Amino acid sequence: MKKIGLTTTVPIEVLLAAGYTPIDLNNLFITSKNYEKYIDIAERDGFPKSLCAWIKGIYGACIENDIKEIVGVMEGDCSNTKALIEVLALKGINVYPFSFPHSHKKEDVKKEIDKFINIFNVSLKDVEAVRNRLNKTRDLAKRIDRMTYIDHKANGFENHLYQVSLSDLNGDVDVFEKELENIILDMKKREPMNKKIRLAYIGVPPMTADMYSFVEKFDAQFVYNEVQREFAFPRADKALNIYEQYYDYTYPYDTDFRMIELKKQMKERKIDGVIHYTQAFCYRAVEDIILKKQLDIPILNIEGDKLNTLDARTKLRLEAFLDMLSDLKGESR
Ligand code: SF4
Repeated sequence: MKKIGLTTTVPIEVLLAAGYTPIDLNNLFITSKNYEKYIDIAERDGFPKSLCAWIKGIYGACIENDIKEIVGVMEGDCSNTKALIEVLALKGINVYPFSFPHSHKKEDVKKEIDKFINIFNVSLKDVEAVRNRLNKTRDLAKRIDRMTYIDHKANGFENHLYQVSLSDLNGDVDVFEKELENIILDMKKREPMNKKIRLAYIGVPPMTADMYSFVEKFDAQFVYNEVQREFAFPRADKALNIYEQYYDYTYPYDTDFRMIELKKQMKERKIDGVIHYTQAFCYRAVEDIILKKQLDIPILNIEGDKLNTLDARTKLRLEAFLDMLSDLKGESR
């Protein structure tokens, strides 16, 4: 099957129906042992030092892995991605456009998805058949999510990893589904973790995934990964069709819409504190102001850049924050 690169989550149901293998370039970048090499490639080609590391990593991953076609999200993603897509087009990479309309009106979402379906010359019936197939896999990801915040048998990193992987199904839905089934069987046999402090992770997925194991040393665990969970479309089975599914996806739309689901999940998961991760040079850092105003809960903002591990200062800040949450919660569990 032909590979097609993604810079963010898009309706992969359409791509799969068209016979493509979607590859999330973010995952390709961050899971590489040589992730820094991808950033270097971008900087050598002229990308500035003062640019988000994800953009440079995606660029390097695309060039190095010989990806010839990508989906370019023109609306609903950041302006850096737009510029990246233009550079990739200059390099001769075929770009298929898709947009999450700013209006967030149902009819506009439908129009964009219909355009996408026409570009790939597939039928709505085939797209819905793929969607139904993927709902089975998505249900397994939801089970892992419940095993994180209800049973406490999946840790925060596993939760992050398996939700985020739904963006491209690790390149093969059948193999990925088997992997999910096996890990669920393995998790069922574990003893619950039951840490004292329940954390929510908010913001773009981290460069520094060691944060998940770091907090566990301080009797804390992440029981909610906001954006990663959105990538896994946990409400897809409630959506009547692909249009509703992508309308009900919070990541590309405004903060008010995102807040509804966020607040609901924070309450349900009995969150004690929030880690808001932002990426250096990313406009989303400004959202911290809104989050702190709208969420009546302690929030710590940490920023990552090129390193894929926490630096000493961030570790200290995390430790102090967790100490404070522990005091607030008292001795009780
Ligand atoms: S981290 Fe921010 S700047 Fe970087 S790709 Fe994501 S949204 Fe864009």
